[in-house]
Amino acid sequence: MTSRLTRAREQMTSRGVSTMLITPGADLRYLTGYHAKPLERLTCLVLPVEGEPTLVVPALERAAAEAAGVEVAVATWGETDDPFALVTSLVADGAIAVDNQMWAARVLELQRRMPHSEVMLAGPVIEALRMRKEPAEIEALRQAGAAIDRVHARMGEWLRVGRTEREVGADIARAIVEEGHVQVDFVIVGSGPNGSSPHHEVSDRVIGAGEPVVVDIGGTTPAGYCSDSTRNYVIGGGAPSDYLDAYAALEAAQAAQREHARPGVTAESVDAVGRELLTEAGYGDLFIHRTGHGIGQETHEEPYIVSGNDLVLEPGMAFSIEPGCYAEGRWGARIEDIAVCTDDGLEVLNQRPRELVVL
Ligand code: ZN
Ligand code: ZN
Repeated sequence: MTSRLTRAREQMTSRGVSTMLITPGADLRYLTGYHAKPLERLTCLVLPVEGEPTLVVPALERAAAEAAGVEVAVATWGETDDPFALVTSLVADGAIAVDNQMWAARVLELQRRMPHSEVMLAGPVIEALRMRKEPAEIEALRQAGAAIDRVHARMGEWLRVGRTEREVGADIARAIVEEGHVQVDFVIVGSGPNGSSPHHEVSDRVIGAGEPVVVDIGGTTPAGYCSDSTRNYVIGGGAPSDYLDAYAALEAAQAAQREHARPGVTAESVDAVGRELLTEAGYGDLFIHRTGHGIGQETHEEPYIVSGNDLVLEPGMAFSIEPGCYAEGRWGARIEDIAVCTDDGLEVLNQRPRELVVL
């Protein structure tokens, strides 16, 4: 029994869960090391609170599961067998927790087969584990942070007046892989007015002189951990003066949040520290999203750094600190670092200069 499965069982016990059912996704990968494709044939980890855990897989995927080195029993079903019968035969009496991303068709089928079992979400059980990173996970996030920093360091190679966001984005995507990722997760190049849409990706807009450009990029490393960092660029001089004023306030807010975040403070207090400063400076209305999200095997996971989340931060929790200001239809700015709580402070995993970079 691996320590993660043991800790999962401790959480199950305290939450009254008899069996967890985990289908392909980050939770399955976290618990077993198996990065299964989410295909239509049922793969499902059956983890009863006592007794043997079993990974149910299609027979034709047994080799793939074993190659991943899973340390639980593997039970296979043949092409015309009933995989739900196999899963339900392994379920203990009592409440069943299913992973948050299990397909609805599967949840409904399980409920139909086990009408007297209470079905709940496994999210709280697994999040309690996943959001407290182990030393090896923190090292993997450190490497991911360094890899995306190397991409930002090269921005001058690609970001030039007269090129489109899409052209620049394609170059960035190549560099994300060159600099140590196996997968490009997202590339945001928001020039001028496009920067005011936080989840803009790229477009055919031609980047002009003096326009602020928000570049938010991330990928997944060979170890399976994600990077995510935003920096802001302007080509030549002449950025709008109201943008420069807002940017100065944003830098101060983000710095204050990095100063504040540490074990023992709440997630929502990190958000509040930055929001208060931006509000005092007159930009509170332009900060239209939460401060950050946890990060690990997924780019967005617990803990969320948001008003209303009174979770007390603990050593090993990793999350983004990414306040932003968005003047609709004109410009946007966001400064984003990934950070992890140490025993008594904060280790920031992105080190590129946070001031506006003039190219
Ligand atoms: Zn980001
Ligand atoms: Zn982010």
